[in-house]
Amino acid sequence: MTVPNPIPKKCTLCGETSTQMEMVSSSTFGAPDLDTRPAEIKRSSMEFWLDCCPSCGYCAHDLEAELSGSKELVASEEYKERYKSTETPVLANKFLCLSLLLENSSAYNEAGWAALHAAWVVDDMKGETQASSFRRRAIDLWMQAQKAGQVFMEGDGAEDTLLTDLYRRIGDWKEAASAAERGLYLTTDETISTILKFEESMIDQKDRQVYTVKDAFG
Ligand SMILES: [Zn+2]
Repeated sequence: MTVPNPIPKKCTLCGETSTQMEMVSSSTFGAPDLDTRPAEIKRSSMEFWLDCCPSCGYCAHDLEAELSGSKELVASEEYKERYKSTETPVLANKFLCLSLLLENSSAYNEAGWAALHAAWVVDDMKGETQASSFRRRAIDLWMQAQKAGQVFMEGDGAEDTLLTDLYRRIGDWKEAASAAERGLYLTTDETISTILKFEESMIDQKDRQVYTVKDAFG
């Protein structure tokens, strides 16, 4: 089960102390989605995955740790607009702010995950256009991560498997097929091969729906 634990934390940027919630433990019941999104109960615990300062808007995995260049970015109009956007849910804004801060500190691998987490927030709200744009941002950041030699998923073919699902969900069939082919070439893992073959058949059908790992195993 999910047990939220309130912890007072002092923002490293503005010095304000606020109560942040940490997740002590969280169980999952069921298979994750093909983009690794966990099943319930963990699925509903996303608000505890990051800290945000209610005073200055700094968002981080730990409010007491400063990401390089964050002071300037948090003070910028671009950041403030993102933080306060009324077009996206508050939690998605927070993950997108975190993504901007991580990108700004050159942690492209983690920035990509934060962007994907924003997509998961809007997935449940049928915000398909927004979800697609956040997935596209995750892909772009992970391309940068690969160029910088940063790993965003461990295991031969694992990164291409994740990319295949993101490309498929946004309907980029050509890139989805290429990523699946690369993943199948790179991996010797039977689970990854099974998932990629399932992805290939969904790509053939131009199917953009969400599927779980269990679906891939029929
Ligand atoms: Zn602050």
